[in-house]
Amino acid sequence: MSKTIIVSNRLPVKISREDGSYELKMSEGGLATGLGSVYKQGNNLWIGWCGMDVPKEDESIIKDRLSKENLAPVFLSEEEIHLYYEGFSNETLWPIFHYMSTYAQYEQSYWDSYQSVNQKFKERVLAFAEPNDVIWIHDYQLLLLPGLVRQELPDATIGFFQHIPFPSYELFRLIPWRKNLLDGMLGSDLIGFHTFDDVRHFTSAAERLLPVQTTANVIHTDDRNITVDAFPMGIDADKFNSLPSSPEVLEIIKNYDDALGCKKIVLSIDRLDYSKGITQRLQAFEKVLLDHPKYIEQICLHMIVVPSRDTIPQYAELRDQIDKLVGNINARFRTASWHPIHYFYRSFPIEQLSALYSKSEICLVTPMRDGMNLVSKEYIASRTNNDGVLILSEMAGASKELTDALIVNPNNLGELSDAIVEALEMPASEQTSRMESLKQTVTKFDIKHWVKIFMDQLKEVKETEQSRR
Ligand code: UDP
Repeated sequence: MSKTIIVSNRLPVKISREDGSYELKMSEGGLATGLGSVYKQGNNLWIGWCGMDVPKEDESIIKDRLSKENLAPVFLSEEEIHLYYEGFSNETLWPIFHYMSTYAQYEQSYWDSYQSVNQKFKERVLAFAEPNDVIWIHDYQLLLLPGLVRQELPDATIGFFQHIPFPSYELFRLIPWRKNLLDGMLGSDLIGFHTFDDVRHFTSAAERLLPVQTTANVIHTDDRNITVDAFPMGIDADKFNSLPSSPEVLEIIKNYDDALGCKKIVLSIDRLDYSKGITQRLQAFEKVLLDHPKYIEQICLHMIVVPSRDTIPQYAELRDQIDKLVGNINARFRTASWHPIHYFYRSFPIEQLSALYSKSEICLVTPMRDGMNLVSKEYIASRTNNDGVLILSEMAGASKELTDALIVNPNNLGELSDAIVEALEMPASEQTSRMESLKQTVTKFDIKHWVKIFMDQLKEVKETEQSRR
C-alpha cells in the first residue's frame, strides 16, 4: 500500500519554548484543516520546516513530539531562513510572481541557498518515501523539489500546487534562474494553480523557455507528460457559516454593538503586503468622504493589517505609509464623537474575525495581485442572513469565481470609491440575490472539495501516464 506525503515550507503547527520545554499548537487554518483528512490517516505524513531555530541537541525531542502527529520537521538555520525564505522566496519570487518586478532582488547567495534548502527537503522526503508513494508538494518555496524527488524516485506520483499567481512570461523571464525553476516544477505529474490564467502563463513560459511541446493543458517532455490545471482553493465554509451563532462569537458581537459607533462598517483585512493594495484602498475611502460628506459620522473603515515580513525594507516602508495615511485621514475628517478609520496592526483569532465579518455591511478586498484571497470567501460564508456586499479586485484569483461581487480594478480610485458608494446604497433585495449566489459557490467548492479534486486528478493522470508506457 502506498502512502501520501504532503510537503510544504511550514508545518501546520506552532512550536513555542516555555521554561525549557516545547509547546505544540496545531494550526487551525483552512489548508491545515483541509489537508488534515490526508496526512492524519495511517502512515501518511506532512514534511516541513517547524517554524523555529531548534538547537541541535533538541532536534530529536521535536522529531519525536511531531511524529505522534504524523509530522516530520525539516530543521533550517537562521542563515537558511534569511537567504532561502526571506531572500529568494520573498524578495525574488514573490515580487516577480505578483507583478512587482522593481522590488525583485537577483542575489546569487539567495539562489544558492534556495537550491541547497530544496535539496535538504529532498533528503527528508527520501528518508520516508517509497517508490510508489504519492507526494503532494506545496508552493513557491519548493519549486525545485518535484524535479529533485523525480530523479531519485522515477515512479512516484508527484503533485505540485502553487498558492500564488504564476505571472505572464514577460515577468517570469526576468528571473536569471528561470529554466531551472521550470525544470524543477516539471518533475511533477500534475501541476495546479488557482486560475486558468496562471495555467496559461505557466504553459506558455515552459513552451518558450524549454524544449517541450504542449497540447491543451498537457506538457510533453522527451519521456513524460505533465498535466497543468486550475484548482481554485476553497475555505472551510461550514466552520465560517456556523461560527456566528456560537456563544463566544455572539458575545463579541454584542460588545461590538456598543463600541463601534458607526451606522455602516466597511471591513478590510490583510497581511501587510505591497500586493494587497492597502494604500490605494485608504485613498479610495478618503475620496468617498471627500466627495460625499453625507457619510461623515455614518460610516467607518475597520482595517486590520496583520504584521508580516517586517525584516524586508519594502514592508517596513509600507507600514510607515499606512500609518501616515490613516493618521492624515483621521485627522482631516474626525469629529468629537467619531473617527473614520479604526486601524489595527496585529492579528486576531478566528472568533474575532467571524464577529467582524458578521457585523460589517461591506467587505473591501482590493489587492493589486492575489493568488486566490481567502478573506473574500470567509466574508461570504459568514453572512448568515445573506446580506452585505463584497467589493473584490479583478486581480484576485477569487474574482474568477465570485462574479456576483462588485468587481473593480484596484488601480482605478474613481471606480473603487464609486463601488463603495454603490455598496452603501445597494437595496436589500439586490444584496440578497448577489449574496445567495456567492454563498452557493463558496459552500459547494469548499476546502474538502479542493483536496478531493486535486487528489483524484493526480491519481487519474498517473494512471493514464502509466497505461501509456
Ligand atoms: N487571518 C487571521 N487573523 C487575522 C487576519 C487574517 O487568521 O487577524 C487569516 C484569514 O482568516 C485568512 C488568512 O489569514 O484565512 C489570509 O488569507 P488570504 O488568502 O486572504 O491572504 P494571504 O495572507 O494568504 O496572502
